[in-house]
Order: sequence, then structure tokens, then C-alpha cells
Amino acid sequence: MRNYSTQMEAARKGIITPELEIVAKKERMTTEELLPLVASGKVAICANKNHKCIDPEGVGSMLRTKINVNLGVSRDCKDYDVEMQKVMEAVNMGAHAIMDLSSHGNTIPFRRKLTSECPAMIGTVPVYDSVIHYQRDLDTLTAKDFIDVVRLHAQDGVDFVTLHCGITRKTIDQIRNHKRKMNIVSRGGSLVFAWMCMTGEENPFYEYYDEILDICREYDVTISLGDACRPGCLADATDVCQIEELVRLGELTKRAWEKDVQVMVEGPGHVPLDQVEANMKVQQSICQGAPFYVLGPIVTDVAPGYDHITSAIGGAVAAMSGAAFLCYVTPAEHLALPNLEDVKQGIMASKIAAHAADIAKGVRGAREIDDKMADARRKLDWEAQWECAMDPETAKRIWNERKPEHDDTCSMCGKFCAVRSMNKALAGEHIDIL
Ligand code: SF4
Repeated sequence: MRNYSTQMEAARKGIITPELEIVAKKERMTTEELLPLVASGKVAICANKNHKCIDPEGVGSMLRTKINVNLGVSRDCKDYDVEMQKVMEAVNMGAHAIMDLSSHGNTIPFRRKLTSECPAMIGTVPVYDSVIHYQRDLDTLTAKDFIDVVRLHAQDGVDFVTLHCGITRKTIDQIRNHKRKMNIVSRGGSLVFAWMCMTGEENPFYEYYDEILDICREYDVTISLGDACRPGCLADATDVCQIEELVRLGELTKRAWEKDVQVMVEGPGHVPLDQVEANMKVQQSICQGAPFYVLGPIVTDVAPGYDHITSAIGGAVAAMSGAAFLCYVTPAEHLALPNLEDVKQGIMASKIAAHAADIAKGVRGAREIDDKMADARRKLDWEAQWECAMDPETAKRIWNERKPEHDDTCSMCGKFCAVRSMNKALAGEHIDIL
């Protein structure tokens, strides 16, 4: 019988949970090192009591940077089997979390399938699901309806829920007066905003926050505080709307922690590269070190089709500067629901960004694989190189498709291979080039 409700409560009581033990091992930390980080909220172990097959992970800026993959059916792409195939591929490729953003049909079976079969952390956005779940227009839903859906997701075993608690009726005037280029681009944020405009009521996720905290505490659901006002273009980055919401998210973080509820804070968005670091520092300071979960940041607005790259550039700098969790972005961003190939490209780009940041911030053991790769390259040991490669299949395919004349090199330089020449020169051997 567990005598704690959440991982945070356990840590505060000095209890080493099985999940904390696994996370410590994965992070090459001792449980004594990890415990105070969970107790203080700097690390969240998102593990709902009802997600029995979870392989737990910790999210925190001092740990390995984690990556999230958004999936789920939409009205235009509604095959749940295809979506489940993408989920499993994503997990095999190294996704630490899957966010089910389904916005069509009966979402319950897919969500339950995820929490009964998928070992990665599962996240949802209950406000999307509210409209689908009740099959009613947004303005007919009540605050209680929204909160009941949060409870349903908690009971279904969802590990973290994105809740747009940080916008209020004040935000309506701010958005109107501030004249942002892109207004609100957060899907959930726009729904909450529209609901407030249509009903004249306060944001239910803000007004009934205490009730939500009680639900999250009961099931150990981590709240991912959504950033409704994240900038949707470079021109809106770090503006009053974004920062004002962030300040409220800081207050809400504190309130959650008072009830032992774990929190992550979501962040931008589209941000010019020179503002990324400052954004991370401000969040860390306002939200007292709560794990920062960034959606990008996308560093230029003009590369549709390549936004996995624009976001990997921002993501690497963000993670190096304090972000803990990167939401992947695919080449289909701003264009379409990603297909399997888009998902793969998005995951690879995020993995590269996360790994580059982990090396830069000195995460334990992060660089070992790079050093192994360097040894394999010096020895021109291709099999060892495939073993170190993040995507060995692609690397092997390219090498094989354009085979060199000499098997020990590659077709880039052939006999001019610098590595081969140096190995031979240092061994006192003759180097034949012509
Ligand atoms: S042939 Fe050129 S690119 Fe290929 S391994 Fe040798 S030095 Fe590197």
C-alpha cells in the first residue's frame, strides 16, 4: 500500500519510490541526489498511478533532455491503427512522451490503449477532448464539463495534462489592445479564449484550479501549465501577453506545489535565436526552477516544410539554457497532420537537439557515445560506426548506396581519405593515392 499520493509528496516524506529509483539509475544519479530535486519540483516524474506499464522518466533541466511526440487522429486523418503504429515507431525511436491530441471520434478507447500498452509518458489536452467527448458546441459546455473531462483523463491513466490555466478575462482585453500579429496560436488556448468570449465567464481552468489540483493529486497527474499566449511568430516573441501569462503560471506553479502536485511549464513558440536563452532564464526565475517544456522554439517563420530544423536550432539552445523537455516539430508543422515519415524526421531533429544540449550542459555520460563514434571513425570501423549512430539504418543505407572503391573508406574521398592516410602515415606505411 503506498502511503503517498504523488511522487512529490513521497520525495518530501523521504520515500524512495520504485519510479524514482528507476529514474535515478537512468540518469546515473544516486537516489539521494534525485530525491531533493523531486521534492522541490525541479524534477517531475510524470507517472499516473493508473498507467501500469509506464517506464518512468524524470523531467528536469539537470537531467537528460526529454522529447515529446504529438500524435492523435483528426477529422481528416482518422485511422486509429495508423496512429497507434506511429506511437510505437516513435517510442522505438526514443520518444520519452506521447501527447494524444486526438480531435475526432470516440477518443476514450485510443487513450486507454495508450495507457495500457505504451511505456512512454502519456500527455493530453483535456480542453480539446471536451468538445469531442460531449459532441456539443463549445459555448454550451460548462466549467463542470471541462473539469469532468480532466477527471476522466486522470482516471484513464494520463501522466500529464496540458491545462491553459494562465489566461483570464484580462487576457481578452490584452489580446485586443496589444494587436499581436498572430493573436493566440495555441489550439487549447484559443478554445479557452473563445469560450470566455462567448460565455462571458472566467477561465474554468483558472477559476477551479484548486479542484483540478485535488484531481491531479489523487491520481498523480502532472500539470503541464499551457502557454496560451506563446508567440506564433517572431514579431510576437517575449511580448507583454506572453510574459504576463508566464507570471501567472509562476503563481500557479507555487499553488500546485503547496498540494504536492507536480508541474511543468510550457513555453514558446516562435522566438528569434538571440531571445531564446533570455526566455529560458526568465521562466526558470519566475517559475522557481519548474521543468520548462518548450514547443520549438522555432527561430524563423519562413521555412514551412523544414520546421523540424528551425525548431531543432531553437530547441538545442533552449535545452542548453535550461529547458528540460522538447516538443518535437515535424516538417508538416503549419501545413498538415504529420505522416509516419514526418514523425521520424521530427523525432530525429529533436533527438539531435536534445543530445547536443546534453553534451553542452555536461549531463552525465552524454558525450560517451560521441567519443566512441570518434574512435570508430578513426579506425574506419564501419560496423562500430553504425552502432554509435542515432539512425544506423539511414547511415548504412547512404554508405551502401554509394560504395567506395576501397571498402575501408567512403566514396566522399576514396583514396584521398584523410583518416586512412593519417593512419598509414603514423604507422610508417606507404600511402598509394594514384
Ligand atoms: S573518405 Fe573522406 S569522408 Fe570518407 S571516411 Fe575517409 S576522410 Fe571521411
